[in-house]
Amino acid sequence: MKKSLIWFRNDLRTRDNRTLAAATADTQETVGVYFLASSSNTISRLFLLQSLRSLKEKLEKLNILLVVIELPGSSYEAQCSTAAEILFQFSTIGSRELYFTAEENFVDAQTETLFCTKLDPKKVHAFHQRTLLEETGLPFSCTQLPHIFTDFRKAVELTPPVAPETPPLSRQPNSAQPFWSRILGELGAKEIFLPENQECSSFPFQIQAGEDAALKRLEEYFFETQSIGHYKESRNGMLNKNDSCKLSPWLAVGTLSPRTVYFTLKAYESKIKANESTRWFFYELLWRDYFKFLARSIGPKFFDPNGLRSEKVCWSENRELFSAWREGKTGEPFVDANMRELLKTGWMSNRGRQNVASFLAKTLRIDWTWGAQWFNHHLLDSDRESNWGNWAYLAGVGTDPRDRQFNISRQAQMYDAEGKYRKLWLSE
Ligand code: FAD
Repeated sequence: MKKSLIWFRNDLRTRDNRTLAAATADTQETVGVYFLASSSNTISRLFLLQSLRSLKEKLEKLNILLVVIELPGSSYEAQCSTAAEILFQFSTIGSRELYFTAEENFVDAQTETLFCTKLDPKKVHAFHQRTLLEETGLPFSCTQLPHIFTDFRKAVELTPPVAPETPPLSRQPNSAQPFWSRILGELGAKEIFLPENQECSSFPFQIQAGEDAALKRLEEYFFETQSIGHYKESRNGMLNKNDSCKLSPWLAVGTLSPRTVYFTLKAYESKIKANESTRWFFYELLWRDYFKFLARSIGPKFFDPNGLRSEKVCWSENRELFSAWREGKTGEPFVDANMRELLKTGWMSNRGRQNVASFLAKTLRIDWTWGAQWFNHHLLDSDRESNWGNWAYLAGVGTDPRDRQFNISRQAQMYDAEGKYRKLWLSE
């Protein structure tokens, strides 16, 4: 029987985790590792730490140890080389095979290569499970992905290739004995303290990290309140918990799988009703997949300020304006209210995100990748593909077939007619 080592990434769950399922099949003993780059104390970092604590507790019940390691140093190269050495040492002791979930974008794929550089490729197993749809079931290859979302949707919506969830896991026969303190000490890395799982943001509601909290929210949104039944009408709301599902933070860190969301949607449709709202919700899940497949298909261009444009776009690098945008001090109330909500809670509605992104890229003409970085750092649901994909789309260098600019005051009139949202955040 083999021994295995799982490098956890954005798959911090025990339910429907095919990497974990494969790593624990016919295994004598399994150890999990998570690498944390040092960063400032944002709400999203707290959410991540608490998600890790919840995973650690779940894994303990399966007799699997999780070691969460803070990588020393601030340079990406230095951190990659320490992580590569740790993976090498961990896998060498007890000759463990490595399992991990592959990410779909170029930046994270590069990290995979650098982290695994010292390992025997035959003993490295990568699994794709970040998307709802199986790439192998798509009616086109990823490199020939239709660039227009509607074409992609039409090609997949009738018979979406969705795999069943993985069966529940059983307890591992043996628990690994701690062997890592010496290795970490020698490499200057350390195990990190994981804080108690309390509410970590006032978000539009008190959000808790972890798999159980994600499943509770799923049940609440679909069955207790049946808010999904009017999703199409409420999804642009900016003030209420049930305007939209608010599942994105858990989906981003992977404490919830997109398949679990999809099968809950299907259960609602068969037990209660299928309507325009449930159909629309499915389309939103497809947007999430679309950006992931697009990221895989176009590689480094996904992160390029010029995006898919062949000619160079002249973006402004006005730091003063950028700083006003970040702090919610542009003088445009609808934009400022949204940016303040983000800073205070780690959350912003989809309507808000579209407006502030259009304002930065189209009105101020500032490099949209700066905005994407800011979002990436602050959003509770920060997800590279959804974030950069939407930003490029709104900046006019992505796959939007129409080059649109939002009329901010008109949007404020439509979506915050009584000014309640602006009042809430501007009077803070
Ligand atoms: P719902 O409206 O209830 O939708 C259900 C699910 O569908 C979401 O949880 C999400 O997984 C998916 N979804 C919905 N809209 C989109 C979309 N436009 N693109 C991709 N997936 C979508 N989403 C992130 O998860 N992480 C990000 O970092 C992120 N950055 C964004 C940046 C910009 C500039 C914009 C315009 C959008 C961004 N989005 C991002 C997409 C979207 O705003 C959020 O997914 C959504 O607001 C999350 O709220 P919800 O879970 O209540 O979504």
